Amino acid sequence: MRTEAEKKPFRFAVIGGTAPMNLGLKETDRFSLSSTPYGKPSEPAVCYRMNKDVELVWLNRHGKFHKLSPSRIPYAANIRMLMEMNVHCILSLSACGNLRESVEPGKDLVIPDQTFDLTAKGLRPQTLFPDFAVHISHADPFCPEMRKRVFSAASALCKGKVHYGGTHVVIEGPGFSTRAESKTFRQIHNAIVIGETTQPEAKLAQEAMIHYCVLAFPSDDDSWKEDGEPATAEMIFKNLKKYGALSLEIIHALAEDFACDSTPFDCGCENVMGPNLEAVHTDIAGYLKTCSPEEEGRLREKYEIFGIMPK
Ligand SMILES: [Zn+2]
Repeated sequence: MRTEAEKKPFRFAVIGGTAPMNLGLKETDRFSLSSTPYGKPSEPAVCYRMNKDVELVWLNRHGKFHKLSPSRIPYAANIRMLMEMNVHCILSLSACGNLRESVEPGKDLVIPDQTFDLTAKGLRPQTLFPDFAVHISHADPFCPEMRKRVFSAASALCKGKVHYGGTHVVIEGPGFSTRAESKTFRQIHNAIVIGETTQPEAKLAQEAMIHYCVLAFPSDDDSWKEDGEPATAEMIFKNLKKYGALSLEIIHALAEDFACDSTPFDCGCENVMGPNLEAVHTDIAGYLKTCSPEEEGRLREKYEIFGIMPK
């Protein structure tokens, strides 16, 4: 487990998605990993000093030129890079389709508290522990403390309504839903928004013991409205532009919040393995005795950072 001293400065990451954004900040550092044990991240992470205590780490999940479709984003490599940077918490910005009458696209915000993952699991690795059996609870996929803080910042700044809670359906994409699918997500999954990237990103952030939550920008009404126009890329970009300035204001407010408040997050995200690593079911010490020195070296290099390897 990392010590408080090792975590300085407080690093707060924002993973950006489809919404175009000009941060208007001066770059202070750049963290580039050509590879991780999970492959190459989407792009280098860029650091910006927000105030004396807080550094913002920015990462575009779709990479340079927005060339990575949701199926091709290296979710595990991105989370590993942020973990190696000692990132404390992650705010995920997500352009989403709206599934509820009560939400106004282009104006309201959504901070979901659940996900329903309908992505193609074979295409998207679901764990940072493919070599061992590690079973972590994903019952609540988002950090409650982050959600509270983001809600507080967003409520003070958003002119629309900030919807706190609800299920975020995640589909494989990259195309949008059929009308029948969209109605099913409303009626069967009781979902509030639909997107294509939140999982497995949220699950992997939990495994990395990083506080994580989503701020969703509803950009369209998907295709469930009988008399409505189905979502188009043009409509989505038009609405997403309306959120540009607001999302930046929320990021600044959060940086102030993190700088002023030195109390630790009141949640269990940093202890997901349990006090005695109960989530780790593999007898790693026993297994290592059967490995070649090369294989043991590979496993130690990959998993040392999680604090699960025997001495
Ligand atoms: Zn947390």
